[in-house]
Amino acid sequence: MPEISYLLSFEQAPSHYIDVTLNLTGFESGLLELKMAVWTPGSYLVREYAKNLVYIERFDHTGKWRPLTKTSKNTFRLITEDHQAQIRYRIYAAELTVRTSYVDQFHAYLNGAGIFLYVEGYQHLIHNVRVKPDSNWHDWAVSFPVKIQETDSSDLTDDINAGILPAQADGLSDDSFFIRPAEFIDRPAETDRVKLGLPPVLHYHTTNFTALIDAPLSLGNFSKLDFTALGIPHKMIFYNCPDVFKASIEDELIRIIETEARIFGVHPVNSYLFQVYGHMVGRGGLEHSNSCSLMIAPDKIGNFDRREYLLLLAHEYFHLWNGKRLCPDELYVFDYERENHTRLLWVVEGFTSYYESQILLRAGLITTEIYLELLEKSITQYLNLPGRHIQSLADSSFDAWIKFYLPNENSANTTVSYYQKGSLAAMILDLKIIGQTQGKFSLDSVMKILYQEIYLQQHRGYTNEDVKAVLAKFISDGLDLFFEEVIDGLAEIDFNEILGTAGLKLQAEFSDLSTAYLGISVHKELHTILQVRAGSPANIAGLSAGDELVSIDGEKFNSLTDQLGSKLPGQVIQIELKRAGALHRLSVLLTSSPQTAFTLRKVTVLNSLQHQVYHEWLNAR
Ligand SMILES: [Zn+2]
Repeated sequence: MPEISYLLSFEQAPSHYIDVTLNLTGFESGLLELKMAVWTPGSYLVREYAKNLVYIERFDHTGKWRPLTKTSKNTFRLITEDHQAQIRYRIYAAELTVRTSYVDQFHAYLNGAGIFLYVEGYQHLIHNVRVKPDSNWHDWAVSFPVKIQETDSSDLTDDINAGILPAQADGLSDDSFFIRPAEFIDRPAETDRVKLGLPPVLHYHTTNFTALIDAPLSLGNFSKLDFTALGIPHKMIFYNCPDVFKASIEDELIRIIETEARIFGVHPVNSYLFQVYGHMVGRGGLEHSNSCSLMIAPDKIGNFDRREYLLLLAHEYFHLWNGKRLCPDELYVFDYERENHTRLLWVVEGFTSYYESQILLRAGLITTEIYLELLEKSITQYLNLPGRHIQSLADSSFDAWIKFYLPNENSANTTVSYYQKGSLAAMILDLKIIGQTQGKFSLDSVMKILYQEIYLQQHRGYTNEDVKAVLAKFISDGLDLFFEEVIDGLAEIDFNEILGTAGLKLQAEFSDLSTAYLGISVHKELHTILQVRAGSPANIAGLSAGDELVSIDGEKFNSLTDQLGSKLPGQVIQIELKRAGALHRLSVLLTSSPQTAFTLRKVTVLNSLQHQVYHEWLNAR
């Protein structure tokens, strides 16, 4: 039986290097291909992880060097003559985001996609991992599904283990997956640590390659929190997080978890791990089958947006059902070597984004007023985005790989976000269902049926037709038109029509008509244009992103806002700019701002159906 085993070590951690030894044993003699994934599931961008492979060598069982041939950007070929091979390679890991890997002398956060080479054709095998941590690291955390026993197909509950190694290696049940006899136990440095109760080598295995790379591994020194929700043990680790990240978070999380589980009627795991990093550079979350990773930080002056934190937690946890289990057909089995296109990310991410604030509302963590404020903000952003006239929601999803994840200075003019428009699409569907079924059903009913029927019973991903068919059980009127206009088309959404069903009215608050508007954003110090809004005075006059503003009406300036403050709509100004080093002069006819803020108001008198929809939508379900 072939065996695949990795050993990770960190002697060069300060230089951001991870050393990997991959042992292959029991393979038939012949050709094997080793490959590095090009992307991390959940993050739709080809990241070319093979670029971080510093070197790679192959040896036979006697330690003799053997050839290894590179045949593509991420593929290596070898011939096994003696049923085994050892491959040693080094990975450069210096990108700390939820989807990439980072190591230094203080800690490591490892995403398997860019760390573990896989053996083509053998991804279904158990993958063994041994980790030799730096001696200054006392904690580790990883969580993944483990099939404890083969069960008949009606029992799809994943058995999982989530582990955090405490300073003393106690408190671990016998079936914990990671502590195994240590191979390096005789080495002096590790012997000391054994005395302290820490294993010198951590050992765990996953049922297949997908489970391996779906389980980010944290190593270092963390603060920790344990709590139980719905009888399920939950663990949190915090790296570089101030106390505010931990304060009462378990109380709020329990409410979030209970509210989310109620929608689907089942909870899919036996334990769960949150890996939370306070990180000043990036912000984001990534979902996994049995865990999630979050990076978020207080701002520069120490303010911490707790609501934003809760929204992120609710979002990632919702993916436990929607995204990681219930998912589009194209993402049910991953191809790790190329883009996995789907036109349905608006269900994966849009619906999840819609539910994040719905969950906080239902869990009593935000008020109805705050919920409507968040919705107002989202609608305002959407309606001020020129790209909504250019890219459909389904196209935004399909092209996530080359557009949403590779934005440029013109993206706002030409694209929409499947998160934002997808969440508005979910809201429209929710209100349609509540309205057309007199409050008996909601989008929850659709989520539950999709989860139970497509994921649990049919063991597959859903198609556009599946989603439409389940929606059609509840929406008898206007569903085809909704797909035509909101999902596949570019029609303007009539928010007043849909929100009117709940007795709400969207009002446009026009900006100050006496203020001059140019339609660009600029770098504060360099005065370089970052974006030019489509249809704006700057766009019509021919200004371009990258132009450096030199003067306006012959005057140099410090602040563009102040300089425009003295001008009026209807006035023509002369802009001197540098483009690629050449000096140009352009005339611009200023206008007033077309940007509009929208507010949601309740109509004075609600009819009985509006009253019912309002309460079903915004009150407890
Ligand atoms: Zn998400």
